[in-house]
Parts: sequence; C-alpha cells; structure tokens
Amino acid sequence: MYHHVKKLMYTVNIGEPDVRFGNMLLEQFGGANGELAAAMQYTIQGWNCVDDIGRRDLLMDIGTEELSHLEVVGALIRMHLKPLKTNREAAEADPLVTIAGGGGLNLFDSMGNAWTSTYLKITGELDVDLRSNIAAEARAKIVYERLIDHTQDPGTIDTLQFLMTREITHMKAFQAALDSLEKSPFSVGLLQPTAGIVDEYFNGSTGDGSEGDSDMRGPWTSSFGLHLVESEMNGGKGLSVGDIDGKVDGEDRGKQDDAQKATTSAADEAIGSNASGKKATGTAKRGAKRQAS
Ligand code: MN
Ligand code: MN
Repeated sequence: MYHHVKKLMYTVNIGEPDVRFGNMLLEQFGGANGELAAAMQYTIQGWNCVDDIGRRDLLMDIGTEELSHLEVVGALIRMHLKPLKTNREAAEADPLVTIAGGGGLNLFDSMGNAWTSTYLKITGELDVDLRSNIAAEARAKIVYERLIDHTQDPGTIDTLQFLMTREITHMKAFQAALDSLEKSPFSVGLLQPTAGIVDEYFNGSTGDGSEGDSDMRGPWTSSFGLHLVESEMNGGKGLSVGDIDGKVDGEDRGKQDDAQKATTSAADEAIGSNASGKKATGTAKRGAKRQAS
C-alpha cells in the first residue's frame, strides 16, 4: 500500500519563475527518461519479482524514491510555470499546458507529447531489467545535467543537483545488484549462442567518408574473443552463417531463479559473494521461511 507524507524529499525554492525553463523541465515529469517512467518501471519490475525478495526490495525502494522525485520535480515545474495562469506572453511558452491544463502539471514532455507506458522497459528477466535500469539512470543523469546547464537560478540548480545525484546513487545500487547475481556479462537467458559466428565482428562500414571518418579498429573489434570479418562485398569471407544449425542447448548454469545468485536475505545480511565475501546460501523460499519462523 502507499501512504503519502506531506513533505517533499527535497525542499524546493526558486527565485524568478522562468516559464520556458519550466516547459523544458516537463521532460523529467512526463518524458521518456522522466521520474514517472522510472517510478513505474522499477515498481512494476518489483511487483513481478517474486522469486528474489532481496532484489524485489531494492526495486521497490528505488521505485518509491522515484515517485518522490516526481513530486519534487513537479513542485519545481509548478513554481516555474505559475505565470502561465495569468500572463499571455508567458502562456505562449506552453499553450497546451496553459489552455488544456490551466497552467498546472500534466503528464506531457517538453514538446507536449503525452506520457506513454511504452517508455517502460520491463522484461521479467531480472538481470536484463537491471541493465535497462542502469541505462535509464544514465539517461536521467544526463538530462538533469543539461537542464542544470540551462538555468542560472541557484534554488533551481540545487534541486536539480539533488535529483541528478540520486540517479548516480541508483546506478550504483542497480550495478551492485547486477554484479551480485554473479553472471558472466554475456550470459543472458538460457540458450547458448552459436559458437564461431558469435565471435565475428562484421566490418559493415568501410572506406573513407567526407567528414574525416574511415575504417577503424578498436577494442570492440578484438576483445572478448571477437575478431574482424570482412564483407564479401569487400573481398572477405562474410559472416559464418553456415555455423547456424538450430538451437544450442544447455548453458552450464541453471535458470537464474534456481541458482544461489537469485538468493535473498533479511535486511542486514548481504546477498551474493561479491557483497558479503562469502557465498550466500538461502534461496528465496528458504529466506521467506526463515523470516516467518
Ligand atoms: Mn529520479
Ligand atoms: Mn533514479
């Protein structure tokens, strides 16, 4: 259940309202990388995550904090948009919000696009979701940074600095949760990739371009077993598509829910050997039983 506390997570104060900046801030209210999207993504991932009550708690903690961020950025936006209600010139900064919404908050981004659930990345595979969350936090961080670069108001900057900082905090927590699953970084799902072709880096863009660009080599062409393969169009052998022969079964790990990696524990007990220095042993079910007893 949810309970609202009548206190902002960060106290918002601004100097002069800046309606155009208020309009830009809507990006973090009803936009693709905004606080509502973050809150809904993590919370719904958490509701789905019934096999790992440790990481479920993480998802619920951060999802709930994001809802508090929505409230903070909403308060900031409302203060900046206040002149929309009475000032015709100001109203031109956001006619949609002024005319349809009375100058108040609504779930639009800075260009008036309606918020949509398609912003959310929810796969139901915990490690895949955690990767999405790390990327989402990085996007939110860079959006806040750009917003900070477009205002001079000290109170506004402090609020945005708070929100931006928390995104890095969340990145740390999601990264730690992913690391503590102790999965190889390229182990996703259960089916193995086809040997051979999996290590072929296809040189799909060649020649010299008009902007000084040319065919380059980097770690991305040679790391993790990768090697470069030239296209037939460039005199090479092309990808080893002949390697593909149905599915390759039996990755040498169990389904993630059965492994110790998806274990859980009571509040103070660390999860996973990365976090605790020793292997965690309880499964989600045993953990739940232990808590009940
Ligand atoms: Mn946030
Ligand atoms: Mn966040």
